[in-house]
Amino acid sequence: MTVEPVDIVSLTRSLVDIDSTTGREGAAGRWLADYLRGRGWSVEEQRVDATRFNVLAGVVQGFSPAVVFSTHFDCVPSFFPSRVEGDRLFGRGSCDAKGILAAQVAAAEQLRRDGESRIGLVFLVGEERGSDGARVADEAARGHGARFLINGEPTDNRLGLATRGILRLKLRASGRAAHSSFPELGESAIDTLIDALIELRSIALPGDPVLGQTHYTVGLISGGVAPNVVSPSAEAEVMFRTTSDAAEVRRAVAPLERRVTIEHVLEVPTVRLKTVPGFETAVFPYTTDIPFLASWGEPLLFGPGSIHEAHTADESVSIAELTAAAGQYVTLARALLE
Ligand SMILES: [Zn+2]
Repeated sequence: MTVEPVDIVSLTRSLVDIDSTTGREGAAGRWLADYLRGRGWSVEEQRVDATRFNVLAGVVQGFSPAVVFSTHFDCVPSFFPSRVEGDRLFGRGSCDAKGILAAQVAAAEQLRRDGESRIGLVFLVGEERGSDGARVADEAARGHGARFLINGEPTDNRLGLATRGILRLKLRASGRAAHSSFPELGESAIDTLIDALIELRSIALPGDPVLGQTHYTVGLISGGVAPNVVSPSAEAEVMFRTTSDAAEVRRAVAPLERRVTIEHVLEVPTVRLKTVPGFETAVFPYTTDIPFLASWGEPLLFGPGSIHEAHTADESVSIAELTAAAGQYVTLARALLE
């Protein structure tokens, strides 16, 4: 079997030029599945909903890889096509994560060229909004028997030591409506909510020696019915980037329940990652698909590009970094396969 080397720039551009904003990944999935089949991979299209599917590929049918390369091919809005300027490749998803996907395919093809068949590819939809693709892939993973999962997100070609988790809480205040000319007859939910948010600022949140202190953002706030009405209700959504068990954060903010009710919206755990000697390491404040891929083996996190480029209006990635990443993915896989 001869395996042609992969042109990383051309593969990235082909993928970037197909709009795969989360929710409409169908066309990109079909193109990717055909591309991999055309190169001789055994490909499985794993249905996630009526129009969207994950693309799984193995060297041989049956698909029991020891090492799996994985990332996502959905993107945040807004779509814009690819272009190259000097060393930089621009386009939505160039950095997060279609360039990464191309580097992983290039690495997998290099390994296959060297006769290595214990590798697999797991390319997912829905990472940017709830990880529904990863959840389906995890369900179906049992029996595939992968030992290591090399997940790709922009880490500037450093190995992740750990990633922060997420805890989203909704704080709800209730009051009593009244005409604003007689405020003493009402009770302002907005005032109560503000008091709770001010109290939150003085609460000591848990920390971790590797990941640092938990921090948070009050990302959404709403309340009231009209300028001349004492507000009967108000709510705020707070997103914590956690560094330990989310239950510790829940305990720390429990005193706020004297003022507001606290509703649990979403939780993603912190993750500790496997490392390999010889690679630069770093911790990352964001979360990935990894917490939802527990059945795919011990996780590693590595990818070209910077998280500061991801999701920006003129997203781009360094071509030299993409090429270097392909080589480093090969080195990582070899170390894990030994
Ligand atoms: Zn990403």
